[in-house]
Amino acid sequence: MSAATGWRSRTENADGTVRVDDDSLPWLRWRLADDIHRRLYHDIGAEVSPGVADGPGDYPIGTPHCRQGDRPLGVLEPMDQWLDGVTPPLGGWSEFRRWSFDRLEVASWPTRRHLGCFHRRGKARYDLMFQLCVALQAGSPASPAGPIWAVDGSGRAATDMITMLDGLDVVVPADVPARFLAVRCCGRPLAALRTDGPVYTHHGGVEAGELFVAGAGVDDLAVAVRRLARHEH
Ligand SMILES: [Zn+2]
Ligand SMILES: [Zn+2]
Repeated sequence: MSAATGWRSRTENADGTVRVDDDSLPWLRWRLADDIHRRLYHDIGAEVSPGVADGPGDYPIGTPHCRQGDRPLGVLEPMDQWLDGVTPPLGGWSEFRRWSFDRLEVASWPTRRHLGCFHRRGKARYDLMFQLCVALQAGSPASPAGPIWAVDGSGRAATDMITMLDGLDVVVPADVPARFLAVRCCGRPLAALRTDGPVYTHHGGVEAGELFVAGAGVDDLAVAVRRLARHEH
């Protein structure tokens, strides 16, 4: 299943209308986050962060790696809350996206003067890593719609994830915005994805950013990571 097809089949019905049911709810939010990254990550550094805590909490949106500072841009709530008490257009994804972006006031986010910002550099890959995180989560049979996390050095992140990175001599800096996304499978850490390209598992790391440039697709990367982690289903 390609990533693009995956988004569609998990968030749209066969006739192209937006699918709203228990299975689709996490995917609707992940797809909106992906759309925000596609339009605004490299431009202004907008990152939709799954947060460091377990559970289906809010996804704050900010610009943690922008030289203009971390601007709080809004919050992408869990979709059941996002859709509660409103009547969204569900006729098609682009219409739903425009409605959602309008609620987040995305059009007001862009600013100028980003020359030299990390998010403008070639190795800035939060957008790709977020997609890879979702692709890895999608391959989990136990909880295909389970949570994904950001990992920072604050001590709030899952300790077994930090332990895995420690074992690989990978530093998780304290006092800086989170630089890792993480996904678990079958109740244990599967991979931690650093937002400039490398992915770490209990059995070593792989340079996902370089493989992507060499032509690998997101689903190829997910397969490679699972193989490296010796955790295939
Ligand atoms: Zn910037
Ligand atoms: Zn598993």
